[in-house]
Amino acid sequence: MNYEGQICRPPMEKASFMLPVSVGCAYNICKFCTLFKHVDYRLLPLDQVEAELRRVQSVGGKPKQVFLGDGNALAMPTNRLLQIMFMIREYLPSCEMVNLDATVTDIERKSDEELLQLREAGLKRLYLGIESGLPSVLDFMLKDHNLESAVEQIERLRQAGLSFNAHIMTGLAGQARGEENAEKLALFFNQHKPERIINFSLFLHEEAPIYNDIERGDFQPASELENLKEARRLIDLLDTALCYDGLHDAIAFRVRGELPRDRSRMLQKLDKKIEVQSKLEPVYAFDTK
Ligand code: SF4
Repeated sequence: MNYEGQICRPPMEKASFMLPVSVGCAYNICKFCTLFKHVDYRLLPLDQVEAELRRVQSVGGKPKQVFLGDGNALAMPTNRLLQIMFMIREYLPSCEMVNLDATVTDIERKSDEELLQLREAGLKRLYLGIESGLPSVLDFMLKDHNLESAVEQIERLRQAGLSFNAHIMTGLAGQARGEENAEKLALFFNQHKPERIINFSLFLHEEAPIYNDIERGDFQPASELENLKEARRLIDLLDTALCYDGLHDAIAFRVRGELPRDRSRMLQKLDKKIEVQSKLEPVYAFDTK
C-alpha cells in the first residue's frame, strides 16, 4: 500500500501492523505539529482498506496487533470504524487488539454505547495527545482539549474497558517552564494512570505555525538540556506503573523503560546525558531546511 504523508505511530506500536484507514488529521490545528499540514484529511475507501487486509492475509501475515492510521482514526463515524474492525477479524483472525491515536474531542463525540461497541469489536489502546500539564500551554498551542475535558474522557474510556495511553512533548512549555510542566504532568498521570507515555520531545520545523510565534518573540524555545531535565523530573515524580519511551531526536538520545522497575537506570542515563549536554553550547531542536 502507498502511504500518504508521514507515517505516524507510537514507537511502542512498531510490532503492530499499520493499517491506514484515513489520511491526515481531522483536527490539524495544533501549533507545533507539521505531520499532516500538507494533506487534506479524508477517509480511505473501504474497498481499499479491505484490499490491503486481503493482501496481508494472502502473504500469510498473522499480526497480533493492528494500528489504525493516520493522526486520529477515531474521528471517523463509528459504523464505519466497526465495519473496519469486523474486516480485521475476518481477514486477520490472529489480531488480538486494535489500537489507534485519538484526540480528546474524538472520544467526546462518541456515546458510551459506541465506545463499548468498539471495545467489543477489538479496540483496545487509545493514544491521546495530552502533551502538557499546563492549561496555558494547551491553550497557546491550540490543543483541542483542556485538562478537565481530558479527565472526563479518560474516565469514559476506562468505563468502556479501553486503555488510556499518552503522548507528551518535553519543551512544549518553552524556556524555563520545563520542570513546572513536568510536575503538573506527573500529578495528572499519577492520578489518571496511563498504561504508556510516549515523549516525542518538541522538534521545531519552520513550517510549524509555532515558528511564527518564535519569530515574533511570543515563544522562547527550551534548549535540549532543559528538555532532558524536564524528562528527568517527570520520570522521578511518576509513581504509577507504566511504560515510558522518550525520544529526543535532535540530540539522538532515547530513554525508555518500565516504571517503577527501571527508574534508577533511566535516571542515571539521563544524568549522564545532562552532564555531557551541560558542557556544550545550548542545542535547540530546530530544522529550518
Ligand atoms: S491532533 Fe495530533 S496529529 Fe492532529 S494536529 Fe494535533 S498533534 Fe498533529
